Amino acid sequence: MKANVTWWLDQTAERLPDKTAFADEHKEITFRRLREQAMALGTQMAKRGLFKKPVVIYLEKGVDVLVSFMGAAYSCNFYSPIDIDMPVNRVNKILEVLKPSLVVTTAGLRSVFAEYAYEGEYLLFEEAVLSEADEACIEDARSRGIDTDLLYVLFTSGSTGVPKGVTINHRSVIDYIDWVTETFEITQQDSFGNQAPFYFDNSILDIYSTIKTGATTYIIPKNLFAQPVPLLEYLLEKKINTIFWVPSALIVVAKLKAFRNVDLSSTLKRVLFCGEVMPNKQLNTWRKFLPDVLYANLYGPTEITDACTCYIVDREFADDEPLPIGIPMANTDILVLNDRNEPVSGDEIGELCVRGTSLSMGYYNNPDKTREAFVQNPLNPYVPETIYRTGDLVRYNAYGEIIYLSRKDFQIKHMGHRIELGEIETAVSSLEEITLCCCLYDEKRQKIVLFIEEQLEKAYINEKISGLVPEYMLPGKVVTMEQMPINANGKIDRVKLKEFL
Ligand code: AMP
Repeated sequence: MKANVTWWLDQTAERLPDKTAFADEHKEITFRRLREQAMALGTQMAKRGLFKKPVVIYLEKGVDVLVSFMGAAYSCNFYSPIDIDMPVNRVNKILEVLKPSLVVTTAGLRSVFAEYAYEGEYLLFEEAVLSEADEACIEDARSRGIDTDLLYVLFTSGSTGVPKGVTINHRSVIDYIDWVTETFEITQQDSFGNQAPFYFDNSILDIYSTIKTGATTYIIPKNLFAQPVPLLEYLLEKKINTIFWVPSALIVVAKLKAFRNVDLSSTLKRVLFCGEVMPNKQLNTWRKFLPDVLYANLYGPTEITDACTCYIVDREFADDEPLPIGIPMANTDILVLNDRNEPVSGDEIGELCVRGTSLSMGYYNNPDKTREAFVQNPLNPYVPETIYRTGDLVRYNAYGEIIYLSRKDFQIKHMGHRIELGEIETAVSSLEEITLCCCLYDEKRQKIVLFIEEQLEKAYINEKISGLVPEYMLPGKVVTMEQMPINANGKIDRVKLKEFL
């Protein structure tokens, strides 16, 4: 069986040509038009001689981004979306790593991109979609591509200040989506309400489940996530029956008990979540108001194509109990290893490591970081076999399910965003006035706290670093220490600093 995700689109466009595939605030697109437009873009890419090359998609979130993704896939190139709100320095760092061969954008956004360190070619979306699709040209490209060729590169925070580009191939997405659509019985009758930005891997589930099964995905306007009642009204109006959101988004709805105003019991069927801890307190509010919905906690890093374990909620939990992250998905093996690299026994704590078809091939153009995290399976000395060390500490419960406990390092999740505190520290350290700095996360208040030795205002620092890191990485609190505490190794004493949170 040939494997390229666009084969799904070919089949669905033939089966359901006039059904809406994706809709955003301004437009919607049928499967037939999606295929035609993506093929037109793919033809433009192939005719430029691009094959297995990185293509940046620099567009406002919406249907056009998805057309562009599919265009790259049809021509056997791989896409990397760049958020149009990302600060210039960070975009430049990504461009330095990725060295794209082409940037897909609009005439309006091209002038913004012109400020970045990129001198290559552009493909203007509005012109490319009007061009002729050349099926023979696409067929030629697809016949030369194979399943383990890259489909996309998603950039995540890197501790040294350089974002890491997680590479994922067609086979990994196909295997993951097969599991998703079979497990949750997704069909053309279903409709997703997309929350995840397209540069965040949770969106893979919405996008590819839709393309494979002929479901419909509504891209929910971002501003609705700050207004729970209109958000639920939107779900009702569009008859959305499946959502896959980060817990932060579900928590806002639960806190304000928006369910009292909007009754979703006749439409909402599945509530899936992934990306950070889902507290049972808020989940219990959802469960109380919508008891017949299927709830599932998916877990995984971008490096394993979105998720690798899943727990379908099947029993009651007290508000203060942890919700399991469950058991491995198909074709995924989870190894929980202790400090001696041995499998844990009983309820011993260990690091969650993962191997399987959906594993990333490594960080793009970054062999050092790849070598650190993608290592030989210590339990198999006989053949080369890669596992990914997630840095997540877990243990098994009495049901044999995995319980997530904490991180081993300085990676955090803040409002659903994966952040290396080191990336913020690198940005702050680059300011002239700063001698020493350290960032910690205050879990309770959900705040990034920056410790410095200088008398500087938070607003001043944030303004200075806003060109270096995205808005969601800006510290929520700045604490001035007379002197930074130092431990026996001469490093900043983070344990001591915690007392000042
Ligand atoms: P990302 O690559 O942005 O998907 O972030 C991956 C990290 O998010 C994981 O390594 C975990 O630390 C955290 N994470 C993802 N899913 C869950 C979950 N269901 N429960 C707790 N933490 C999670």
